[in-house]
Amino acid sequence: MKIGTCVAKPGKMSFGFLEVMTHFDGTPERLPVVIAAGRHDGPCFWVTGNIHGDEYVGLLAVQGGVTRALADRLGDLHGTVVALPTLNPAGLRVGRREAYYDPATDPNRTFPDANPYADTDLAEGEDDDTPTPYEVASGVYFELMRQTANYHIDLHAMSIQATPFTLVDHLLYHGEDERPRMEQLALQMHSLARAFGIPVINEFPSRKYIKNRLHRSTGGAASHVLGIPSITPELGMGGDVEPKALRAGIAGIHNALVWAEMLPDDPIVIDWIPQPDLGYPVRREPHPRPAMTGIAAKLVTPGDVVRAGDPVAELRDIWGRPLGDDGYLRTEKDGWVLNLRPGVGVYPNRAIMDLAVRDDDPLALPWPE
Ligand SMILES: [Zn+2]
Repeated sequence: MKIGTCVAKPGKMSFGFLEVMTHFDGTPERLPVVIAAGRHDGPCFWVTGNIHGDEYVGLLAVQGGVTRALADRLGDLHGTVVALPTLNPAGLRVGRREAYYDPATDPNRTFPDANPYADTDLAEGEDDDTPTPYEVASGVYFELMRQTANYHIDLHAMSIQATPFTLVDHLLYHGEDERPRMEQLALQMHSLARAFGIPVINEFPSRKYIKNRLHRSTGGAASHVLGIPSITPELGMGGDVEPKALRAGIAGIHNALVWAEMLPDDPIVIDWIPQPDLGYPVRREPHPRPAMTGIAAKLVTPGDVVRAGDPVAELRDIWGRPLGDDGYLRTEKDGWVLNLRPGVGVYPNRAIMDLAVRDDDPLALPWPE
């Protein structure tokens, strides 16, 4: 196997670059690649990070969980780990989510579109501009994933105050023929996500998922287009790295390789981060949303369990006088706090945090028309 200049050799770590485009000044844009090739046959597990250039934890988790952790384990490793510590060096250099050469494009929405109703959805608004520069670049490595990957993990981070969790997409199928395969894949994805070892959070309901173009994310396309299990761990804060979240990511990569029967180890119990379990499946939801403009002083932290009616923030005017009935913003739902949205100023209908709330949707369901 060869990914750019990085050539897999059984029992060896290999390092190289994958060139994905050439800039107008003749400089290549190239992604660093690590391949850990075990001495034994087995599957090919792709681990990617930092597609959002200001989410650094995935880069360090790849270095810790692949480059460093596997260097002396190649005799035990079954199969091959292909790891790209940054999918977006141009965002990484400048500390921004998007690549500086394609600032209007979220790089994690550039993958092939499996939506059978995509052509009828003019709201997508992409015709003349497609493909964007990053979309051309992502097409290069997505094709290599198509050729080689059996499993995939894409590592992300959230906002400044966030606790680690793994996002799992609801899988969408087109017609009853596709249904059994997607249901099976969804079960595999949940099994992988649980094995990774941090709380499992289902993605948005299907319409919101498509509206946010998440089916064109790395994980959304790996599962829907390539048909391989793919999960999206969100490892705490963005903009910098929280050591406990990084440790969770490194342990999670190990646990995923154990799950895939690529390492003959026991999984690591990740007991140093919050692991709330409400006893039912949960999805992420931006909530609560204030009804008025104001200043919010939050009363909860990521990992906290809340019950409907609990105050989650004090709401005041700029002078400090209470707003609303009693000066509190309350959650209308039971759940637990995934992350707080940064800042103190709030506007009507803009959520101040993301909650894990009950998810009644099936793991796989039809594409909405
Ligand atoms: Zn991200």
